[in-house]
Amino acid sequence: MKEKIAIVGAGVGGLATAARLSYLGYDLEVYEKLPECGGRAHLIEDRGFKFDTGPSFVLMPDFFKEVFEFCKKDISDYLSLVTLDTNYKIFYPDGKTLTIYQDKAKTESELEKIEPGASLGYNKFLQATEKIYQSVKPLLYRCFSKADLLRPSTWALIKKLNIGKTYWQLAKKYFKSPELCYAFTFEAMFIGVSPFSTPSFYSVITYSDHVEKIRHPMGGMYQIPLALEKMAKEFGAKFHYNFEVDKIKKEDRFLIMSGEKKKSADKVIVNADWPYTNQGILKRKIAKLKYSCSVYLIYLGLIEKVEALEHHNLFFAKDLPKNLADIFTNSKVPDDPSFYIHVPTRTDPGLAPQGKDIAYILVPVPNLEKKYYFKDHEEMIRDTIFNLVKDKLGVDLRDLIEVEHRFYPDDFIERYNILNAATFGLSHNFFQSAFFRPTNFDSKLKGLYHVGASTQPGGGLPTVLASSKIVTDLIASGRF
Ligand SMILES: Cc1cc2nc3c(=O)[nH]c(=O)nc-3n(C[C@H](O)[C@H](O)[C@H](O)COP(=O)(O)OP(=O)(O)OC[C@H]3O[C@@H](n4cnc5c(N)ncnc54)[C@H](O)[C@@H]3O)c2cc1C
Repeated sequence: MKEKIAIVGAGVGGLATAARLSYLGYDLEVYEKLPECGGRAHLIEDRGFKFDTGPSFVLMPDFFKEVFEFCKKDISDYLSLVTLDTNYKIFYPDGKTLTIYQDKAKTESELEKIEPGASLGYNKFLQATEKIYQSVKPLLYRCFSKADLLRPSTWALIKKLNIGKTYWQLAKKYFKSPELCYAFTFEAMFIGVSPFSTPSFYSVITYSDHVEKIRHPMGGMYQIPLALEKMAKEFGAKFHYNFEVDKIKKEDRFLIMSGEKKKSADKVIVNADWPYTNQGILKRKIAKLKYSCSVYLIYLGLIEKVEALEHHNLFFAKDLPKNLADIFTNSKVPDDPSFYIHVPTRTDPGLAPQGKDIAYILVPVPNLEKKYYFKDHEEMIRDTIFNLVKDKLGVDLRDLIEVEHRFYPDDFIERYNILNAATFGLSHNFFQSAFFRPTNFDSKLKGLYHVGASTQPGGGLPTVLASSKIVTDLIASGRF
């Protein structure tokens, strides 16, 4: 008989691991704090509006396909992924805009409007990042340890990945205007870090966005966790919701405890965020680590459509270096914020009542490592954003609100147990990537594993899906 495995957390990482291991025949039980699956990929339904609360971009579609292929299933039986015609629109502070399309020729003519001759740099940038992507992609399915640093092959790899260069420096090599450098590095914010300090190999995100394009699951992003949960259940995995694990102990077997309740298993995989898992569940002291930024979120159900907005819209601060310094260095809520507006109803009108739109606004803000009270700044942030949108689009979103929900930095701590409200988990600087990022096996307790954003390979849906493959392979290999 196969071993009994417990997974703590039904985020995308826990769900994908549950699907893979139950497909392999393990006896699988999932224990989740919340009443439903998805973790940070959550859904709020209110008066006919369906708000995806977390991720909104499906990048690196191969990583999604791979999970289903692993389980000998066809992704199209679970998810209807459509490719967006318009990837996103960038609104610059001086009134310029840049739209990135699925159609490369259309994108090139947009780039030329901002920087004459930029198409040449664009093609060179794509060639350079393709090389990085081809080198990085297989590595995302590997668990590295510090011991790997001693291998000569590792040094060759580090040289190839040009780790001395930042994401920003890479873009600067191919584009002259700061506008385009920002347009080709803003994706660093997808993993909650600054392009000025992130290694250039994270440009694989930009590569995927431009070359593999952006997908949207019809029915909304929440279809992704639902599909994984459904597949895991089909293979026999059992789910226990409203079960917050407060302690894990190893005796003959593992004990997973929640107050008076005790469950046992041969192996345990923890999907709860790694720093919290160590501090809150395993009662360990953790070293000083660097955390990603936090975000303030506003979910609006609008009484009418705002056609001037695309599916994905980015509004850049007037002074972007200052904006990034405020968030990442000065721990100051920016008074000149950059922000993002997600209008999924542009592609998927069924997410709102007929003739209405959803506008989900995301504002990167400092994490709570240095404590501050976000609500002291909320009015300022809201006024700035709504005034700016009104100025750019001629529409005051405040006049169109039918339904509104808000999510604050400290909600990440309360709801998801994410230390310091670091929305994207541990930061992705060089010393918290690959060899230096927490491993997917626990180095202190054999039989305990970690899956999810703050472990290897890192944060974001594709990488969290890769993390579930790493853990599955470690367990199936029987070596760890
Ligand atoms: C606002 C936002 C926007 C994002 N945008 C994108 C995007 O566009 N594209 C993209 O690819 N990624 C994006 N991301 C990142 C992506 O959503 C995450 O990397 C990914 O969902 C993390 O999954 P996870 O399984 O690692 O963790 P989680 O989703 O945090 O799952 C962990 C689970 O563990 C549970 N848990 C915690 N403690 C306990 C406990 N003690 N007992 C039991 N259960 C517990 C939690 O409730 C949670 O369900 C975004 C994230 C956010 C928040």
